[in-house]
Amino acid sequence: MKIAIVGAGIVGVSTAYELAHDGHEVTVFEQRNAAAEEASFANAGLLAPHLLTPWSAPGLYTPLKLLGRRATLRLEGVKGTDLAWLWRWRRAARRGAQAAQLSTLEGLARYSQQRLQHIAAQHELEFETSQGRLILLRTAQEQARWQPALQVLRDAGIALREIDADAARQIEPGLCPETPLAGALHLPDATAGNCRLFAQLLRQGTQAGGVQFAFGSRVARLASQPLGVQVQGESGTRSFDAVVLCAGMASAALLRPLGPRLPMAAVHGYSVSAPLREALHAPVASVVDSQLQISITRLGLRVRIAGGAELGAPDAEHHVPTLQQLYRTMNDWFPGGALLSSGLQVWRGARPTLPDGAPVVGASGVPGLWLNTGHGAGGWTLASGCARAVADLIGQRNPDISLEGLGIQRF
Ligand SMILES: Cc1cc2nc3c(=O)[nH]c(=O)nc-3n(C[C@H](O)[C@H](O)[C@H](O)COP(=O)(O)OP(=O)(O)OC[C@H]3O[C@@H](n4cnc5c(N)ncnc54)[C@H](O)[C@@H]3O)c2cc1C
Repeated sequence: MKIAIVGAGIVGVSTAYELAHDGHEVTVFEQRNAAAEEASFANAGLLAPHLLTPWSAPGLYTPLKLLGRRATLRLEGVKGTDLAWLWRWRRAARRGAQAAQLSTLEGLARYSQQRLQHIAAQHELEFETSQGRLILLRTAQEQARWQPALQVLRDAGIALREIDADAARQIEPGLCPETPLAGALHLPDATAGNCRLFAQLLRQGTQAGGVQFAFGSRVARLASQPLGVQVQGESGTRSFDAVVLCAGMASAALLRPLGPRLPMAAVHGYSVSAPLREALHAPVASVVDSQLQISITRLGLRVRIAGGAELGAPDAEHHVPTLQQLYRTMNDWFPGGALLSSGLQVWRGARPTLPDGAPVVGASGVPGLWLNTGHGAGGWTLASGCARAVADLIGQRNPDISLEGLGIQRF
């Protein structure tokens, strides 16, 4: 089949890989001049398990506090659509996330991890990976907040240990002994890696294998009859047998004229990537500060600190207090581990998030148009698995993994 993909973020590039692998003729349309320039640029790097990543699902772990110094979600210039999204997210949080959907997501994350590892091994891709994660608990009370997520993880057979501070410091010897630590959750099989680097390596490989990347090509409109895309500046429509929408935050607006609605919001966050200063004082793999929802990940010769959540103004200036909190958290846990005074990459990116935190993967309702978008806080974690599943659906095969509860009909 002749297939178009809209968007060359981690989701679009992974989808291109799988469709090309199945023998399709694939063209990727990307408005930017390279892959992974938007949400996939400098995320925290956390791979499976998914449900312990901040903002993975409403009410699961991230408490929603909108006001005060300890607000977990900062509102800035919110519009009516943002408020409607927030209302739905709050409602889902109050009801408790749907157990079936959570277990689908965790199953998908695990499947994705296996697929990613398979692809990386097959093509010898090196993308600054590390193995193992600690969820750092500053107080004993924090442990209780994790229990619903832990239950899903245990049911899914994911290795997980509740450990004390001494054991945590043995696993991450760089942890500052002066910072109070009540205990930690240890996930020995959790992985992390550089999302952008992986996307670029995969782009390079698929391009060499025949996938066409039309960079600098903004899709102005999706067409249904005949099925295709209209690139900005062109008068005609380019026809395809199938189109897969992987346009991250732009997906909802592209889909809307054809009928289906995606209630997606941008939950912005930040990352600071800093050169390693002293490896002994830096994390060996990844840690998450449970209270502050900030992750610190070792990525090769750098350390990436990520966190913060903002709803509203897409083009807002960087919020200095949030960035200061990232630096403080790094200094709390790994003082001296990274050089925070120069050579920093500071990034603000959007998590393309649907009100239940889960992506939309599958048919759109418009014949030939497929959706693989809205991955929220887990696009890197879920990309390889979702891509494989969409390729299977397009090839009229049953995916190896359940996609229950991830269809667009839930909205
Ligand atoms: C601070 C932060 C930390 C995060 N940490 C993690 C983490 O640890 N683990 C994890 O799994 N996820 C994490 N995420 C989420 C993850 O980064 C996203 O879910 C993921 O990058 C989404 O990928 P995507 O390909 O759907 O979107 P994008 O990467 O945004 O790709 C969409 C692409 O579509 C292109 N596009 C849009 N409109 C058009 C158009 N009209 N025509 C052509 N091209 C178009 C865009 O230019 C873009 O390149 C984090 C996000 C943030 C902000």
